[in-house]
Amino acid sequence: MAKKEDCIFCKIARHEVPASIIYESESIIAFLDINPVNPGHALVLPKQHFSNLLDMPESLASELMAVMKKIGYAQLKALNAEGFNLLMNNMSAAGQLIMHAHIHVIPRYANDGLEHWKGKPYEEGKAEEVAEKLRNVLNKDG
Ligand code: 5GP
Ligand code: ZN
Repeated sequence: MAKKEDCIFCKIARHEVPASIIYESESIIAFLDINPVNPGHALVLPKQHFSNLLDMPESLASELMAVMKKIGYAQLKALNAEGFNLLMNNMSAAGQLIMHAHIHVIPRYANDGLEHWKGKPYEEGKAEEVAEKLRNVLNKDG
């Protein structure tokens, strides 16, 4: 795994590596994904290096949310997108490749050919069992 000093997104945030930056503030930057699902696919991230959502302070949440909304709106207005997805991969098993927390904002079109993942229905009684396990941790660890 790349060391924090080698992190490509830190380098982009410090303007040491070029990127198509579309938004920047003191604490947050957004730029186009180099390999977009659709043109205009953007990545939004705190400039400070956090590995994933669990490491990020909640104080960043409201600005991050505001920037995601602005970018989604801009994708609709500027690119005639008909919708947009927000996606955050947290940890390798979830497909995270760059270990600097980031959220994808993906412009969508009704017939763009992308499919959502398939659901796997619960077996009888299983949903409550799983919900109980989650409630136990949520109520204990807050
Ligand atoms: P992850 O799977 O970690 O959520 O996604 C990382 C994303 O970063 C990928 O969609 C990939 O195309 C994008 N990416 C990787 N390296 C670079 C880069 O150097 N510049 C830009 N603009 N995007 C990158
Ligand atoms: Zn980083």
